[in-house]
Amino acid sequence: MNYPIRIWFLFVLITVLFTVSCSAESSNPNKSTEAEKEMKSGPQPVFPHPEIDISLTQLKKLIDSEPVFVQETILARPQYFLELAQQFLDLPSWAGVLVDKDHPLPEEYAPDDLVLLSNYPLTLNRSDLRLSRVCMPSVLAMTEAARIDNIELVYSSAFRSYSYQQGLYERYVDRHGQKEADRFSARPGTSQHQLGTTIDFGSISPEFGDTPAGQWLRKEAWKYGFSLSYPEGEEKLTGYMFEIWHYRYITPSGTRLEREFFGGLQQHMLEFFHRHRNFLENQ
Ligand SMILES: [Zn+2]
Repeated sequence: MNYPIRIWFLFVLITVLFTVSCSAESSNPNKSTEAEKEMKSGPQPVFPHPEIDISLTQLKKLIDSEPVFVQETILARPQYFLELAQQFLDLPSWAGVLVDKDHPLPEEYAPDDLVLLSNYPLTLNRSDLRLSRVCMPSVLAMTEAARIDNIELVYSSAFRSYSYQQGLYERYVDRHGQKEADRFSARPGTSQHQLGTTIDFGSISPEFGDTPAGQWLRKEAWKYGFSLSYPEGEEKLTGYMFEIWHYRYITPSGTRLEREFFGGLQQHMLEFFHRHRNFLENQ
């Protein structure tokens, strides 16, 4: 081989080796696992430029009656808090409305976009379950992610009308007495199920927490915007005993706010926005 041919041969060899190494990298199994993980983490919020125009002094004043841990976490990252808060406030009211023992929904309230879950690839405990269409993309994404992890999510209760809740509550009162019934059953109008964005999974009993599905939801549901409404040890705050099966859809912005600034407590977060919504929206 003369000198120019050897140079040309070397050049071709380097090009071939470079191409092979690039294609090996793109099919690297670890990389695709990362991509899958990213996809499985569910819909990600987009951060708009914050429109809430508020000074640090105003923010400090606004949160001065919040628990100390809430104040500290907000003041550690005020910009991030305001970005998420803006995003949450931009959502329709079903996402952030406070529905609890002191804040009932009107008797006639029912979402106008209810869909039958039996029309979707979901496992149901009864065929007449309905949810608001707004949470269906997240319901389907979460169910599919669980399936990939060999977990089957079973949907047991979803939308409940005011009158259905009335019948349910009255039956519990007859069986357990009013004081006990109030610990686990909502009086008509005060159930999050009337929103059409709340789900009870599996056996609707404490044992659900020990099942793979119960544990999976505990770890993963927030990524899809679902929040455990009545956590363990918070009966004084929420008004309800621990319900490991009951999740409300508050969107991924909501679950991020809840986790990062309100100690994972939906009630704290929703009370905060209930108190300050008007002020924040007018800034
Ligand atoms: Zn429930």
